[in-house]
Amino acid sequence: MKCALVTGGSRGIGRAVCVKMAEMGYYVLVNYKSNAAEAEKTLQLIKDKNGNGELMHFDVSSKEKIQEVLGKWIEENPNNNIDVLVNNAGIKDDGLMIFMKDEQWENVIKTNLDGFFYITRLVVNGMLQRKYGRIINVVSLSGLKGLPGQVNYSAAKAGIIGATKALAQEVGRKGITVNAVAPGFIKTDMTEGLNEKELQNLIPVRRFGTSEEVAHAVGFLASAEAGYITGHVLSVNGGLYS
Ligand code: NAP
Repeated sequence: MKCALVTGGSRGIGRAVCVKMAEMGYYVLVNYKSNAAEAEKTLQLIKDKNGNGELMHFDVSSKEKIQEVLGKWIEENPNNNIDVLVNNAGIKDDGLMIFMKDEQWENVIKTNLDGFFYITRLVVNGMLQRKYGRIINVVSLSGLKGLPGQVNYSAAKAGIIGATKALAQEVGRKGITVNAVAPGFIKTDMTEGLNEKELQNLIPVRRFGTSEEVAHAVGFLASAEAGYITGHVLSVNGGLYS
């Protein structure tokens, strides 16, 4: 069975990516942290597309939980290959650096950057053995440009961009591509408090993007036909910055 693991699949961009993976024929492993009801909704949307999958509950900021849940699944499913990994789970906790608390720094780095490391290290092992894999990391405009009030988040996302480029060079000859998608402003719970009317004037296409538009880019990079694209960061930001 060909599987796609999507972290943070219970809501927003991750949910749209799960549906896209189902449309592409993958059995979808829907990871989430705490919102079981929303994760179930994602699974139902997958089934509505005649797809299938299962929920995978673990906190991406905990290397112990990653090992316990994902490590166990890999061990118990030797014939079910994770061919696509989408590292999407992420949080932000904004504030000017001078006022930023230790926990704000640590939680954002742990969830976004450490999560990428511990999950990818587990999953890439099987990909190396099978000589095929697609890894897509959901980063951010903030990691490319740096945004005030987001020193923690910009650092975490820029870290993943560096890791994407490095890992792409390590595993390229084994048929594995590693890319990143960098959304700008996308309508999800994460951007709920933002003033779209005001901000859209900064965006050349004059609107926030949708989760489905980001999922489309992820689906493209996850396709077998995208095998000659690696170490790339694809912006999905309405022309805001490139
Ligand atoms: P969202 O609507 O807030 O959803 C976040 C998702 O991540 C949820 O499924 C949540 O699970 C999961 N999650 C959070 N912490 C987790 C943890 N420790 N372990 C496992 N899952 C966790 O966010 P979004 O807007 O879709 O963002 C998705 C990704 O895109 C993030 O990496 C974000 O940084 C990036 N991004 C978003 C935007 C934007 O404008 N929205 C822009 C640039 C980049 P629960 O439901 O269980 O809480």
